[in-house]
Amino acid sequence: MRIVNLGSGSKGNCTFLQTKNAKILLDVGFSLSELTKRLKNIGETPENIDAIIITHEHSDHIKGLCAFLKKYNPKCFIHKDIVSDCLKDLQGRNIDKVIEISEYAFSVGDVRIMPYLLPHDSKVCLGFVFSVGGKKISIATDLGYMPENMLDAMNGSDLVFIESNHDKKMLMGCMYPYIVKQRIISDHGHLSNDQAADIIVKLAKNGTRYFVLSHLSENSNTPEQAYLTSAKALENAGFILEKDVYLRYSRQDKNGNNFYFSESED
Ligand SMILES: [Zn+2]
Ligand SMILES: [Zn+2]
Repeated sequence: MRIVNLGSGSKGNCTFLQTKNAKILLDVGFSLSELTKRLKNIGETPENIDAIIITHEHSDHIKGLCAFLKKYNPKCFIHKDIVSDCLKDLQGRNIDKVIEISEYAFSVGDVRIMPYLLPHDSKVCLGFVFSVGGKKISIATDLGYMPENMLDAMNGSDLVFIESNHDKKMLMGCMYPYIVKQRIISDHGHLSNDQAADIIVKLAKNGTRYFVLSHLSENSNTPEQAYLTSAKALENAGFILEKDVYLRYSRQDKNGNNFYFSESED
């Protein structure tokens, strides 16, 4: 199995997952031309994508979706309550490719995918736990706090993508209007570096070794600040970085690290 983030942040999000028999995109938050470029950078093409899964209807997650579905033929999994919000520019036969999901598990090829509702200021927002060949990968971005049921489900993940959106001090000092700052720190906004660090330590104690800090703000965070916050929390909890636990961060402008996991046969 291969997984690589193609870009993450308020200007666009997309993650590529490849298993033995499926190629999946989680979110299409870049224009089709930009996404095609980013896929090419990792040796892939849009024609070969089997399925798209959407987290929520904000434009940084669906920007290129309709253009993608007009031109190519992947199945597209969208929560039933946001299908019309996500597909405003799409009509006719293209809608046939859309499969409505709710809060129940579904499969794409050999991957079992379990969605979880996340608290965020969209109509619906989903986090996902992907299980394939005995491996588990969890992705949670765009959430004001981590719901207990998703945290429980993430336990034992091999790899976790977790939002580390802002540094609270930098957010309070940045040029955003007060109302926007209140929205970001609310229970329906985004996770701060400190919140992400707490979650990472909990999951590391339950055996997760690989973490990717995701959806970093360009105005109220820096990769260094996000990294240091979680790194310090892990070290304070007794973990040795680059030995017990590996911490990486995703970028807005380009793809992040490739992760490869072997899948068991059964
Ligand atoms: Zn977002
Ligand atoms: Zn959002």
